[in-house]
Amino acid sequence: MQKKRIYLDYAAATPVDPRVYKAMEPYFAEQFGNPGSLHSFGQRASAAVFTARQTVAAALGAHYQEIIFTASATEANNLALSGAVAGLPARGGQGSKKKIIISAIEHESVLNTAKELKKRGAEVIVIPVSKEGIVDLKKLKAALTKDTAVVSIMYANNETGVVEPIEKIAKLVREVRGANQYPLLHTDAVQAFQYLPCQVDELGIDLLTLSSQKICGPKGAGALYVRSKTKGVNRFYPVAPLLLGGGQEQGLRSGTENVPAIVGFGAAVELVEKLRSTEALRVYALREELWKGIKKLFPKAQRNGDLKNRLPNNLNFYIPGVSGEELLVALDLQGVAVSSGSACTARSIDPSHVLVAMGQDKVRAKNSLRLSLGRMTSRQEVVDFLGRLRILKGILT
Ligand code: PLP
Repeated sequence: MQKKRIYLDYAAATPVDPRVYKAMEPYFAEQFGNPGSLHSFGQRASAAVFTARQTVAAALGAHYQEIIFTASATEANNLALSGAVAGLPARGGQGSKKKIIISAIEHESVLNTAKELKKRGAEVIVIPVSKEGIVDLKKLKAALTKDTAVVSIMYANNETGVVEPIEKIAKLVREVRGANQYPLLHTDAVQAFQYLPCQVDELGIDLLTLSSQKICGPKGAGALYVRSKTKGVNRFYPVAPLLLGGGQEQGLRSGTENVPAIVGFGAAVELVEKLRSTEALRVYALREELWKGIKKLFPKAQRNGDLKNRLPNNLNFYIPGVSGEELLVALDLQGVAVSSGSACTARSIDPSHVLVAMGQDKVRAKNSLRLSLGRMTSRQEVVDFLGRLRILKGILT
């Protein structure tokens, strides 16, 4: 009999919650209108997008016009960085490059956008992290100047689950902020949103990235929260658009809205809001049980990253003498899906840039595994996983 498959890679992708799927269904064939059309088909689509926008805005404590829907978190991160650099007025004169500050452990969509902006003339400063994976606040403070367009530090890391001190970072940014709203503080909350409150005013955030596909919503939808200023009925945004066209999404992201995906995203956000605290406790208990079981089988196994400031669903660890890649493949043959490094770079053989930035040697960085739990993870799966790992122990050591 084939073993039931066990999925422990929720940081890479999540299944669509059936409630989300149901909410989306009418918007494929029945309610297929273009939200920009004036007739009733368009109005229904527009109303559905509006409801989703309000739901996302409420989850962040934002105004609905501050939510810019995108096709992915990658696009939202690109818009945050490139848009902030383009939005900051040039001062002119020599040595007046616009500055971007990021951490060494950001997702590739931030790292590579910063790299590209550097090629185009921006100054990029990369802030190191401690061996626990926490951003060095002293170095950040020293790097911050008024000509910084944007500081981008993720809320929680996708590989280790380590949570960054965003409120402290926001305080540092405010200390140098000029009357013109810059530097902006951007945080990639793609992994954090599911388990941590993301009220932008409390965090002191100006730009915040979300992804639908990491919260049991569909692929093809992301969002960037953009803090705006109002003057009369007008709203002013501190970022410039990447995509120009019909002026959708407050002019910051032209292109016909992906209505089914946005409706699904809204429904997924609503569920997260309802389930966040109970799910956080539930997956935490399962994660701890997993770790206890792994330690029993492999007493030399070690966890990567800060143990206190960490998402409850993430377990990133290393077993000395065991190849991470071999273990991943062996587990896959046992019907278990886990990840080595982050999914987006899993096909590359480079060691994880996150673990290297944390000062881990290349062997450990290459051989660490990430297990990430989620809404559909059950206690039985944890027990079964440990049973299958026990079978592999004899083969791998
Ligand atoms: N940011 C973080 C922290 C992520 O984990 C991911 C995906 O793994 C992304 C951004 C990019 O998401 P997407 O590939 O859906 O654009």
